[in-house]
Amino acid sequence: LDPTADGLSPEELDIERALRPVSFDDFTGQAQVLENLTVFVQAANLRQEALDHTLLHGPPGLGKTTLAHILANELGVGLKVTSGPVLDKPGDLAGLLTNLEPRDVLFIDEIHRLSPVVEEYLYSAMEDFKIDIMIETGPNARSVQLHLNPFTLVGATTRSGLLTAPMRARFGISSRLEYYNTELLATIVQRSAEILKVPITEDAAIEIAGRSRGTPRICNALLRRVRDFAQIKGNGNIDMEISRFGLKALHVDAYGLDEMDNKILATIIDKFKGGPVGLTTLATAVSENAETIEEVYEPFLIQQGFIMRTPRGREVTELAYQHLGRIKGGGQPG
Ligand code: ADP
Repeated sequence: LDPTADGLSPEELDIERALRPVSFDDFTGQAQVLENLTVFVQAANLRQEALDHTLLHGPPGLGKTTLAHILANELGVGLKVTSGPVLDKPGDLAGLLTNLEPRDVLFIDEIHRLSPVVEEYLYSAMEDFKIDIMIETGPNARSVQLHLNPFTLVGATTRSGLLTAPMRARFGISSRLEYYNTELLATIVQRSAEILKVPITEDAAIEIAGRSRGTPRICNALLRRVRDFAQIKGNGNIDMEISRFGLKALHVDAYGLDEMDNKILATIIDKFKGGPVGLTTLATAVSENAETIEEVYEPFLIQQGFIMRTPRGREVTELAYQHLGRIKGGGQPG
């Protein structure tokens, strides 16, 4: 299971789009964040001003992109979407910025991955709605200042700690998205099942929700896969039995940990005596890149109490030993 949703087929992308909430009312959970954003949007609409620049941070799949779309909808403005790694020259950014209508939203995903020159260039755009562009070349080359329409930059990042201080300071609004509890995810599963027109029992929705790593993107992905099992191996309806069957086949365990989560825990226990072990050493041992472990896997494992971060590295907890059926200081039982 790929929690970053990369590598989806075009059909799956269409489904993904259909499942995406389009308004504040449609969006489940993150109550505090939503409450604040609703006030800020209403105030901006009342004054017919651009919403303040907004930073959304939190692990992947929790709804940052979805919220950017919702903000544009609720502001009644257009949305342009790009991402940090894609914008490699100030010129790319200038093209986007000069095409924004008044109050439009520019969404930059993975904003912590902007190159320093592009980031610098963004500062005056954010602050004064002005940019300098170079015209002509050679001896006639000179820079002219362009005025931009007032706009809202919505930045998303999985790692707010990696954002530079000047960048962070330019966001008037900053919201952190948290992992969802099972009840909220069950609501999302039921909503998605309705859109996909597949009948689902309440206990099955809770079962899928409880194994989704606190992440809407994952609960939707698991729902789609369980739907396949229901259609091919069952009677088309999703109940407890077919959910458990499907989730087992997908190697999703009772805590919702996937293969990589379990591999990380097992590796720390078996190869590093339970830790502490440094991030890069661990990454090499499980053949995953360190950044992905830190952004995707570790936050959930920490939140669920399976690992701890100590000054000397990552350590597994008692819960991890229990979960994998290992005995501390010993090997595998049996
Ligand atoms: P991020 O940008 O944080 O990685 P996305 O906004 O792309 O996450 O969300 C991933 C998927 O999860 C979306 O396609 C959407 O369908 C679903 N989703 C996210 N948040 C919610 C929510 N609060 N309610 C319902 N569905 C959600």
